[in-house]
Amino acid sequence: PESPRGICGASRDVMVTRNLLRAVASGSGCYIHVVENTALNLKNTAKEKGRMKGKAALERLAKLFGVSGSDEWETAEKVADAVLNDLYKPEYVKMELVEKIAYPPRFKRWQELGILPGGAKSEVFKGVVKCSTNLNSDPVNMLIDCLRLGISTGIYGLTLTNLLNDILLGEPEIRTAPVGLRVIDPDYINIMITGHQHTMFVHLQERLTAPDVVAKANAAGAKGFRLVGCTCVGQDLQLRGAHYTDIFDGHAGNNYTSEAILATGAIDAVISEFNCTLPGIETVCDELLVKQICVDDVAKKANAEYKPFVFAEREKHSSEIIDEVIASYKNRRPKVKLNLLPEHGNGNTLTGVSEVSLKKFLGGNWKPLVDLIVQGRIKGVAGVVGCSSLVSGGHDVLTVALTRELIARDIIVLTAGCSSGGIENCGLMVPEAAELAGPNLKAVCKQLG
Ligand code: SF4
Repeated sequence: PESPRGICGASRDVMVTRNLLRAVASGSGCYIHVVENTALNLKNTAKEKGRMKGKAALERLAKLFGVSGSDEWETAEKVADAVLNDLYKPEYVKMELVEKIAYPPRFKRWQELGILPGGAKSEVFKGVVKCSTNLNSDPVNMLIDCLRLGISTGIYGLTLTNLLNDILLGEPEIRTAPVGLRVIDPDYINIMITGHQHTMFVHLQERLTAPDVVAKANAAGAKGFRLVGCTCVGQDLQLRGAHYTDIFDGHAGNNYTSEAILATGAIDAVISEFNCTLPGIETVCDELLVKQICVDDVAKKANAEYKPFVFAEREKHSSEIIDEVIASYKNRRPKVKLNLLPEHGNGNTLTGVSEVSLKKFLGGNWKPLVDLIVQGRIKGVAGVVGCSSLVSGGHDVLTVALTRELIARDIIVLTAGCSSGGIENCGLMVPEAAELAGPNLKAVCKQLG
């Protein structure tokens, strides 16, 4: 711009930080929404004495929080309440679990810097207020808000969402699993799931394998139901897939693969509960007669039927969804041509890696990994994480090329989110990928089998 300031007098730094803070507050709001709903689902499940699939995860988290109950349900309720109580604190009251979850030296530094976050929802609110027209014009002050929001999003929206999911959905176990479009089996009624709040699917998942519901699928001409993974929810169910072998087909692909998944013609419904249900799939669903159902209106799609998930009404909710998906299957299968790609992806991607499962795999401590780094056999561990985008050469091009380069230089890659969807579909997470690694990393991989 020719003028150094905007018409109101705001400098470029103010404009840029204001936009950054708006984006950060908005992103934080998204993931705080996810952890809030996850904690509420845990609390509601505990109140009704529902199934806690990850009992060890519950014990670990309760110990970390310093809470206990007379049975697993009371403990789970206390764990959920500890999270919710923090989320609902005002902005001027610091959240209590940060110190219990964060890496201690880092917590100390945050404390020294005065950037410990207050109640997560209030921090989002404050961030949104600050970046509105002619309010804050101090870039450093706004950047400090970004740091606070980053801490609350990382600890609550990401770490705690995962740890609560471990309790309700079961903990990850290291195993190999099929990935890519090959996972889609046209003999079943296939539901593509998208989002990040899959504790909302627990009841539906269980119903889909119940004999009376399978009988309904059989009567419609299918062998039963299958969930086809897409976006983060698919990635996460793959991670926990050892608990879902009877219903989960595998992770077909990431955000931008969703169009291709639908284009196989074998998906009968899309059920979404959060991002990234791309608006671009709406026209594809219309064309291929795929029923779209959305269970949380924060991610309501224009042509999706909105069926809000209400825990107390989950029986009715699941039953209605099942009937609608069967109706979609019956309507569309005689009319829509299949374009399957059974060769796409691979059958043996390594999955199920979590802090707990990896440590167990290494023999109960991190020493073997640290020793490899100290001895110089590998140079370290790099994270290639986050969303997949279409920039930098196209879909997954940058992340796949970067990963190839890193492993060729003897650096282990840890990947998560949609980036990992592309990296695994391109064959970089199968045992044979050791051949693409540098000599030291290759030897380590072969030693580990
Ligand atoms: S990793 Fe990113 S792009 Fe993929 S589903 Fe999650 S938020 Fe969306």
